Amino acid sequence: MGTVRRSTSKPLPAALIQIQQNIADCEQCERLRTYCKGIGETKRKAYRDQTYWARPVPGFGDPKARVLIAGLAPGAHGANRTGRPFTGDGAGYFMYPVLHETGFATQALAVSRDDGLRLRDAWIASVVRCAPPGDKPTPQELRTCSMHFAAELGELKRLRVVVCLGKIAFDGYLAYLLSKRVIERKSAYRFAHGVHYEMPDGRYLLCSYHPSLRNTNTGRLDKAMFTRIFVKARELAALK
Ligand code: SF4
Repeated sequence: MGTVRRSTSKPLPAALIQIQQNIADCEQCERLRTYCKGIGETKRKAYRDQTYWARPVPGFGDPKARVLIAGLAPGAHGANRTGRPFTGDGAGYFMYPVLHETGFATQALAVSRDDGLRLRDAWIASVVRCAPPGDKPTPQELRTCSMHFAAELGELKRLRVVVCLGKIAFDGYLAYLLSKRVIERKSAYRFAHGVHYEMPDGRYLLCSYHPSLRNTNTGRLDKAMFTRIFVKARELAALK
């Protein structure tokens, strides 16, 4: 596989570059790899002149991030096409303007890895790095991919807040904390939009509905609700 080209202008430590490369080269889940490559060949009509990324999608952002934004998985025609989380689909078109307004992104527009967008004080990743059919990874795929999430978390030393976008990301982060023996059981934590917990390691877990079209088109999540999440994340992370 080729080298992963970074989409942030801040220099990344070698360990994070290696993690990004490991993710992009991963072939552990046969079902997901077959699906992502197939999507990259059949394409959506509107993107038929584009070359899809069609590889696992690494996280990106500020290596000194105090806030980690954890999603579910790449969109089949979004990040699986562009190679950057939440870039080029409806969820990203909803999220990046909010990140821009709350100071985490340098611009609202997120259309490609070369669009100039950079993150400040934030890192964006997902608990599964390959687009799953129907946005539904299997429990085994979630377990297998957790190694990549754990590797990134291990290198983002300044993290203070983890914003979990949706219940699956929330469960993925709790599974990570359980594996690290930060918590003893998951049942003490319940997912609800806007709820936050101070975890035993001193970091905060902040819950949000996922900005998928299923939520934003139905009004379950609107811009004001989502903006409040990132205002709260700044406050919890002690960012000005
Ligand atoms: S989902 Fe994760 S573990 Fe599975 S192939 Fe993709 S990157 Fe690898």
